[in-house]
Amino acid sequence: MTTNRFCVFCGSPPEKKNREHILPQWLLELTGDPKRVVNFGTNFKNGNAIRFDWSNFCVPACESCNTEFSDLEARAKAHVLKLVAREALSSIEYSDFMDWLDKVRVGIWIAYHFIQGNPTNIDPSFHIKTRICQKDRMVAIYPIAGDGVGLNAFGVESLVFHSQPSCFALRINDILILNMSSDYLFSARCGFPFPKSRYTTLDGDNPNLMHLNDFQITRRIKHPLLRKTIAKPSIHLYQPIIRRSSDDSFQSGYLGDYSRFDSYLAQHTMPPYPTGKGVLYFQHQDRVDPIFDIDQPIEFEDIKHSESKPMHELVKQVYEFQNYIYEKDEFRAQNKELLTSHMERKKALIRWNKHFISHYSRMSNV
Ligand SMILES: [Zn+2]
Repeated sequence: MTTNRFCVFCGSPPEKKNREHILPQWLLELTGDPKRVVNFGTNFKNGNAIRFDWSNFCVPACESCNTEFSDLEARAKAHVLKLVAREALSSIEYSDFMDWLDKVRVGIWIAYHFIQGNPTNIDPSFHIKTRICQKDRMVAIYPIAGDGVGLNAFGVESLVFHSQPSCFALRINDILILNMSSDYLFSARCGFPFPKSRYTTLDGDNPNLMHLNDFQITRRIKHPLLRKTIAKPSIHLYQPIIRRSSDDSFQSGYLGDYSRFDSYLAQHTMPPYPTGKGVLYFQHQDRVDPIFDIDQPIEFEDIKHSESKPMHELVKQVYEFQNYIYEKDEFRAQNKELLTSHMERKKALIRWNKHFISHYSRMSNV
């Protein structure tokens, strides 16, 4: 990896430079020979295939940042060991596990900018520290037919993912973990505050700023939390997240919450109030259950044969959800040419993902 300009965690020039393994050593050991060589897609600058071993999948980091995240890494290892054994995690452990998925997803996003030659010309506007636990997030876990050990990251090579690290999947041995996180992906349907108006300006005083206006709250849960079909997983959890705000009109200190104390939000967020972190909502086939007891173990649910999908169908969903999330984003610009070229690029990236989707649709197995 060539660039050493910033730390993957904080975005500053790394002090006491260190290397962060985006996919940690313990995970490489759990899933095979840590020195194995894998294909990392194409470098868009020179068209060459990128191949190197997982253990060299590193990005620069400060020593202090690295240390700060070592506890999360240790807990994540314990969580993953339980998950591959299909054991229950508690609600609070799943929330912690989703912090780790945020870390890995954003870390891979930053790493791919380096290794693929930054094809979409993005200057990362956030890094791991400013992105963990900041937006609605979900996790779906699928048991897969026993192929033995292996580690794959799906969706991370797509150009939509380059534009926004919204959705990816990790196969760890016999489970596939689908993870999504994006602004207001399901807050409204969890009964949480949401903006009626949301758009990103491409130019003006604050280019690439997302404008959020006219916040509302229904305090009612709507089934299903995502209005897009998803194959039934064994674990299916959603966590709405409210961001901190320094705007005085939000009296609780959280974006979109005008009240000093909202009993619905107090009941539906992790203690102690106010944390802005929703409790987990389990999406069942026929209903949504918020889980109020943060220590409650969440067991793997059985998947009937008729509900079970082959691996390629599960992986295909990653690209479908990337498009679903990307298509919802509204962009505005004063400069019409800028807006036109942005919209053309957006369409091209979505089309590119549709190629992946049809590729996976034609497959009989991955
Ligand atoms: Zn740092």
